[in-house]
Amino acid sequence: MTPSIGSMVFEAGECTAEEILRSLQSAVQDARAHPSKIAFFSPSFDVQHQRNFMIQREFPYALTDDNQLSLVFQPRVDAESGICKSMEVLLRWSHPDLGPISPAEFIPVIEASAYARELTMWVVKAALTQLAAWNATGLRLNLSINLSAINLQEDDFWDRLGADLARSGVDSDQIEFELTETAMMIETERSQDLLSTLSAAGIRLSIDDFGTGYSSLSYLQKLPVNTVKIDRSFINDMSNGNRERVLVQSMITLCHSLGYEVVAEGVETQEAAELLTAMGCDELQGYWLSKPLCAKGVVEWLSEQNLYRFRYREPVCA
Ligand code: C2E
Ligand code: CA
Ligand code: CA
Repeated sequence: MTPSIGSMVFEAGECTAEEILRSLQSAVQDARAHPSKIAFFSPSFDVQHQRNFMIQREFPYALTDDNQLSLVFQPRVDAESGICKSMEVLLRWSHPDLGPISPAEFIPVIEASAYARELTMWVVKAALTQLAAWNATGLRLNLSINLSAINLQEDDFWDRLGADLARSGVDSDQIEFELTETAMMIETERSQDLLSTLSAAGIRLSIDDFGTGYSSLSYLQKLPVNTVKIDRSFINDMSNGNRERVLVQSMITLCHSLGYEVVAEGVETQEAAELLTAMGCDELQGYWLSKPLCAKGVVEWLSEQNLYRFRYREPVCA
């Protein structure tokens, strides 16, 4: 057992008992995240806890409301040819009162709740529906979908995915799953079995945000991973100088020698795109090529892409 201690100072009679207990609850939550496991009540953290609580409370309604959740798609292009190979699926949430909530804010909160499974199920279903609709018009695209670490622990993940794939008529090689190094490193039999099952079914796997987590390449090498996505912080830092560029070049060379394809994320300038192409990076993704697009924007972007190779344009709808 690891006890966590929350504490606060109060004047008797100034606050109600309920307020004190709620504030202490907030302090205990901070304590859990602190190495010492002790924390004092902080009003600014409390505001964050209250917002997180609201996110957790509201998300189940969003899952069943047709107007709150939607998907956008960000192109990944082949560095040499400029041809779009696939799109990354990114979730958007627009709450009727709170407005748009960034996935960077709500996904970590939902991942820590019981709803991580439902979130991924919603995204997978919506992505397969979109792929089936594009397939029906003759547009064949591949989509990469972000998974949470917890999804790898679900014993019925493959059964549900297999059923969804069969129902949608989408081929499994049109799907790729992105997982962070940290998620991949959770070494349980169940997660390893699931990764092997997905790979055997023809689904591609990639390591997301490479370079930011705790990674053991010798362990990752044992997993059926096809692609490594270098985190955008490294791509961004390339403008700082030669050492940063050497680091990215070394990452690309290392990944290639281990047999991975390499994607650079967060490509925001022409210089970065040209440099990465010269370094032998396989695919590029970032605002310079395109911001995430809605489904209609995807079709328009693809048709324009034939005319303008590697030219950034504002999304049609964001
Ligand atoms: P990520 O998987 O690393 O996704 C890429 C993020 O970088 C996206 O932010 C994208 O809009 C942003 N981005 C793309 N190009 C550029 C660029 O050139 N410059 C900069 N500064 N940023 C760029 P977004 O959509 O806000 O997503 C944030 C994170 O939320 C994602 O990071 C991912 O971890 C998570 N996420 C989004 N959708 C899903 C989902 O459906 N499921 C799960 N589990 N996580 C998701
Ligand atoms: Ca990703
Ligand atoms: Ca990423």
